[in-house]
Amino acid sequence: MDIKRIILRQIKMDLLHPFTTSVGTETDKTIILVEVKSASGISGWGESVAITQPIYNEETVETNWHMMSDHLIPLLHWEAVQHPDEVSGRFKKIRGNFNAKAAIEGAVWDLYAKENNLPLAKALGGTKARIEVGVSVGIQQSETLMLKQIEDYLKEGYKRIKVKIQPGWDIGIIRSIRQEFPKIPLMADANCAYSLNDIETLKALDEFDLMMIEQPLDHDDIIDHAKLQSQLKTPICLDESIHSYEDARKAIELGSCKIINLKIGRVGGLTESKRIHDLCVEHNIPMWCGGMLEAGIGRAHNIAITSLGNFTLPGDTAPSAHYWKRDIIQPEVEMKDGYIVVPEAPGIGYEPDLEQIEALTMYSKVFHF
Ligand code: MG
Repeated sequence: MDIKRIILRQIKMDLLHPFTTSVGTETDKTIILVEVKSASGISGWGESVAITQPIYNEETVETNWHMMSDHLIPLLHWEAVQHPDEVSGRFKKIRGNFNAKAAIEGAVWDLYAKENNLPLAKALGGTKARIEVGVSVGIQQSETLMLKQIEDYLKEGYKRIKVKIQPGWDIGIIRSIRQEFPKIPLMADANCAYSLNDIETLKALDEFDLMMIEQPLDHDDIIDHAKLQSQLKTPICLDESIHSYEDARKAIELGSCKIINLKIGRVGGLTESKRIHDLCVEHNIPMWCGGMLEAGIGRAHNIAITSLGNFTLPGDTAPSAHYWKRDIIQPEVEMKDGYIVVPEAPGIGYEPDLEQIEALTMYSKVFHF
């Protein structure tokens, strides 16, 4: 691969609806886009999922910009990259900063797939022609609004409903949802809002036949999750705690979870995502792909990784129109009957909408190789 230029752009997009979890409310999203350009003029695209506050993990948009500019991009300079699998090895000596690493590596993967005339999904070993779509419902102002929201999403065709919970917005709301919708595939995401002191509350959720409860305990814990799982019937799914293949291996060995939510940005990229996928296959751990309110580029990467065989549970990759008035790709991601078709065009399979990207760009930086 002959990389000639890397362009970073910082864009800002308004969310159609505010999104509330146990850690805060988001109304807009500042996003770093990475464009990796080859000598032949082909561009690969990546998107950082970092947000402006360090409340999901320690990274922010600003720390990502710094890490990419001053530490990661220089590591691609010294020797040509032959295959995108090499990128994570190059970045290994830099600790953490997985969102930043994944954004650059994702752009290199897109470029590689395009240069080889392959859909990114195929380049990663994906086998599915379409993926199942679930939806994540944030914490609402009232129970009535929550039930109405779920009813609307079910009508739109979503294959599973995930609701965000936090202390005080848990058993009551789940009971109401179950009374109204006894059979729907339903799960709860706590975003680390509980501790082992809340074990009775978490055990009380067992009666509602949830597909799983996602990340009930601390963002960096796997020990207490194992203790909790041994006392819960509901499968625990880990999200925030899994940053790498090694974290996944340890969590599986300890029995900390029965399901893994994979986020490409959380684990440092697509190469590490493939390794975690294969580990989960070996251990019969079903997976699904989580969401970080991505714009079209990040969304396209999520679709590609979800096409791998062990992503057997519906993910959070909803269509563009669920989040944005106008996305930054053409065509936009669309859902039909609860499915998104995996694109067959080379690379991520969607064209970046350069006019829209230009209009949203606050600033940019070009690195010449
Ligand atoms: Mg989560």
